[in-house]
Amino acid sequence: MRSTMMPTPLLVSRILQHGRSVHSGAEVVTWAGPEAAPRRMTYGEVGRKSAQLAHALRDDLGITGDERVATLMWNNAEHLITYLAVPSMGAVLHTLNLRLFPEQLAYIANHAEDRVVIVDSTLIPLLAGVLDKLTTVRHVVVVGDGDVSPLGQGDRVAVHRWDELLAGRPEQFDWPELDENDAAALCYTSGTTGNPKGVAYSHRSIYLHSMQVPAAETFSLGPRERVLAIVPMFHAMAWGLPYASFMAGASIVMTDRFLQAAPIAAMIEAERPTFAGAVPTIFTDLLAYLDANPADVSSVKEVVIGGSACPPSLMHAFDERYGIQVIHAWGMTEMSPLGSVARPPAHLSGPEAWAYRYTQGRVPASVDARIVGPLGEALPADGKAVGEVEVRGPWVTGEYLGEGGPDPDKFRDGWLRTGDVGTLSADGYIVLTDRAKDVIKSGGEWISSVELENALMGHPAVLEACVVGVPDDKWGERPLATVVVREGATVTVGELRQFLEGRTAHWQVPERWAFIEQVPKTSVGKFDKKRVRSSYAGGELE
Ligand code: ADP
Repeated sequence: MRSTMMPTPLLVSRILQHGRSVHSGAEVVTWAGPEAAPRRMTYGEVGRKSAQLAHALRDDLGITGDERVATLMWNNAEHLITYLAVPSMGAVLHTLNLRLFPEQLAYIANHAEDRVVIVDSTLIPLLAGVLDKLTTVRHVVVVGDGDVSPLGQGDRVAVHRWDELLAGRPEQFDWPELDENDAAALCYTSGTTGNPKGVAYSHRSIYLHSMQVPAAETFSLGPRERVLAIVPMFHAMAWGLPYASFMAGASIVMTDRFLQAAPIAAMIEAERPTFAGAVPTIFTDLLAYLDANPADVSSVKEVVIGGSACPPSLMHAFDERYGIQVIHAWGMTEMSPLGSVARPPAHLSGPEAWAYRYTQGRVPASVDARIVGPLGEALPADGKAVGEVEVRGPWVTGEYLGEGGPDPDKFRDGWLRTGDVGTLSADGYIVLTDRAKDVIKSGGEWISSVELENALMGHPAVLEACVVGVPDDKWGERPLATVVVREGATVTVGELRQFLEGRTAHWQVPERWAFIEQVPKTSVGKFDKKRVRSSYAGGELE
């Protein structure tokens, strides 16, 4: 029997229409630095400007069909407008990661065949350095004041100013009824090994993901919340926060380019967000800053930390010192990115609840997960069997863009192979041991680099610890621990080894150590283990 329901397509334009009307009073606040007042815009205004942008792109710049419109932007109101307008008109949004190497930036823009780049004026020097290599780009739209002359004004690329382009355009647009399975947005993985790979989100996947993100068991967002979106909009769509907030009516506070701990603390004091999301390194810095420079952060109830494993010591510190509950979450660009969120079962409290909070979390409806052994065999979801985590679902990619089908190294029988190793419990909680490529194989046994890092970061003198496997004649591989010591603190290798004894098995305690100024970070702020390996692999034997 066919259903009697309307086959209404799930489109980004519906998120846009809903937010601009029903939540017209919600606001997006863009931080403007220590001297200037933040810029404020209501969702009603965002909606009107989205229509104006769509008119400009279509009527002035000639964008038709599924042409690609790229952004080279920080988190700000104009980026949100672009997020909404471009897919809604049927074109495809491509968020360029502004921290990629120039060659990689050119590679992804050309691979996606970007036609337009919308750029923050503060990023003009970056764009000017690669523009020659962006062979398909015909238009650059500059947001904000600033000298555009470095971009040239050649035959191939026309340069426009955002404000002039939008001025006087109609504030309504006849958004087309699209196929919900068509591409709405592109995001490339950060390509720590080889070229970045493209993922094309559909309208349907974005819509469904946007309904899940605000759900109570996920991030619990609604009109009463104010979301501090620290995670960049070029990193896995800022974890879905812009679309989800617009749909749910939660206001958003945008960091723009002010991503250091001091301005983030100032934003929290001034704008009173209730919720924030970022990778662990940002919160590690924020915690150290707050400890030294007290600020009123009492508005923040919950922060989501994900992108790499969140050290339990960081969760406890926020909880105990600032009354902020850290929610651990796991995801990937390939998963839109939501994979799991660590909210404990409702009936638990105290240490039992904490044990669940340390996990990577529970999968929501729409994400199926399984654990697979080395021969591709499915292992039991019993919380014990360790293997690669595989996932599937309506917001999980089934292949990479332009590869003509699923690459068997990354996909198996309709499942995405995440490259993450861990366990899955019967009630859907994932515990990750490590990334497959970071697990340290020592004499036939596995050592989790993350477990050692978490243990080390529990030492009061340690700000950050990054552990990698290095070649060893006897054992094949052994751990090398690189450690950043907190300002004003001192600690010796002997003390750290002592600290680890009792917290990990004796044979896992590293012999190789290096004290370093800072851990090298990837373009999205995670520990860059590849660089740590190549820079410090000769770590001293103790
Ligand atoms: P990149 O691969 O460039 O870092 P992604 O953000 O898509 O970009 O990375 C996804 C990967 O990040 C996951 O496969 C996993 O290894 C890691 N990751 C994300 N969240 C967590 C988490 N909570 N705990 C451990 N690892 C995580």
